[in-house]
Amino acid sequence: MILAFCEHDHGALDDVSAETLTLGRALAAQLNLPLEAALIGPADGATETLGAHGVAHVHLVDHERFTDYAPEAWARSLVQLAESRQAQVIMGPGTERGNEILAHAGAVNGQPLAANCTAVTSGESAFQVTRIRWGGSLLEEAQLEGDPKLLTVAPHTVAAAPALSPTQPETTTFNPTLGEKAFRVRITDRIEAEGDKVSLAEAAVVVGGGRGVGSAEGFDVLEELADLLNGAVGGSRVATNLGWRPHADQIGQTGTRIGPDLYIACGISGAVQHMVGAKGSKHILVINKDREAPIMGKADYAIIGDLHEILPALIEEVKKAKAG
Ligand code: FAD
Repeated sequence: MILAFCEHDHGALDDVSAETLTLGRALAAQLNLPLEAALIGPADGATETLGAHGVAHVHLVDHERFTDYAPEAWARSLVQLAESRQAQVIMGPGTERGNEILAHAGAVNGQPLAANCTAVTSGESAFQVTRIRWGGSLLEEAQLEGDPKLLTVAPHTVAAAPALSPTQPETTTFNPTLGEKAFRVRITDRIEAEGDKVSLAEAAVVVGGGRGVGSAEGFDVLEELADLLNGAVGGSRVATNLGWRPHADQIGQTGTRIGPDLYIACGISGAVQHMVGAKGSKHILVINKDREAPIMGKADYAIIGDLHEILPALIEEVKKAKAG
């Protein structure tokens, strides 16, 4: 059978898990195997949704210490469940959690993982997979070996579609055996982000700062501009690595992907890993003292000069425009 780990909120599947089940169903048809789903956490009502996706069996994985996310413990549970069901494939969504759990599962049972696949074709022994690499700039064709085979599905590359014939899945509870070590990494506390600010991912205007900002205090002027425009402040990895901004503010391949109407990029060179996160921006205004900076190639508008002079002048003009 094929075992699909699904992310959900109280039984409501997240989009990428629905996409994972769609790819899983196609693979199950190729291999003539049933598709089964594993869910962790309270999941009332999931059975019907999973039946609509053609799942034959729903496994509710439960343990007394599953009060919050614990990647290694979740992965060990998945491996134990897969062993007990003799799964030939373990798959999951290519989300941060999905990739983390499947990577742990690979480490636990010594098998390779093909992360972020967009297509899978079964073969004699190996699977042929297409997967996204380099932040979306490269598609790789690869052979996936292993027993069981482990893969995740790249987000939003497979259109989620319900099964032509829905199923009525059997639902059972699986209780893994987990030692203390499996909980070495776990969420122990949650701190809510400041509530009144617009989020980076959803802001219509983002003011981003990079190495050119020069210091944590240097971001004050970016904050002021963002406040005036009801926007959010973000940063490059240099800005977060140097501790000028929290990691949650990082824009890019290993940060947040933004899609504002206007991205004002200040003192940022435009490395590919940064631009992957900014490519959803509808317009880009670059402020940089180097007219040859790579980011100029992506700019709709550019102001060449020192951001420490340009931003205060820009703020004055915005204030005047708002007052008038
Ligand atoms: P720099 O490249 O040093 O550029 C600074 C720019 O500021 C220059 O263009 C300079 O001309 C300009 N400048 C300097 N002073 C001023 C001034 N006074 N006024 C105006 N302009 C000025 N990076 C990310 O951002 N996000 C990611 O998610 C990310 N993920 C990564 C993942 C991997 C696996 C790797 C290897 C790298 C990743 N990076 C990421 C890092 C990335 O490659 C770059 O190193 C980084 O984006 C550069 O940051 P920067 O533009 O702030 O700095």
